[in-house]
Amino acid sequence: MRLTRDVVSGENRRKLRDISGEEVASCYQCGKCSAGCAMTGMMDLLPHQVIRLVQLGHIEEAAASRTIWLCASCLACSARCPRGVSLPNVMESLRVTLLRPGERHLDPAGLPAEVLENAPEQALVAGLRKYT
Ligand code: SF4
Ligand code: SF4
Repeated sequence: MRLTRDVVSGENRRKLRDISGEEVASCYQCGKCSAGCAMTGMMDLLPHQVIRLVQLGHIEEAAASRTIWLCASCLACSARCPRGVSLPNVMESLRVTLLRPGERHLDPAGLPAEVLENAPEQALVAGLRKYT
């Protein structure tokens, strides 16, 4: 996508700010969030790269990354951020923009009985909140 003023300050970015409550323009790309994230080995974009895409208005690219689904919402990054940006909130809002149109990433009815019996209740609730 070409970088234009309309893209950078477009409707999608405003919507994301409203949902997340985060002002991503505060991020100055120091990378401390990515340096402290335990999930980066599996991520296709590093957390600070997700923020950079959102800053530039490339919401679809950020939302298409595997990273937003791998984020464990552990808060390690936001605790380290010198600018007070909560990445988990941004990741959650990106997931919400995908899930709102009704796309499900997990079918609760399709969960095997073994998972329902053995998985910790907290993990089930968190998974259903995140993926449905
Ligand atoms: S730690 Fe904060 S300021 Fe630094 S790159 Fe991450 S979000 Fe941006
Ligand atoms: S909240 Fe997500 S992005 Fe931040 S450190 Fe934890 S797993 Fe990484």
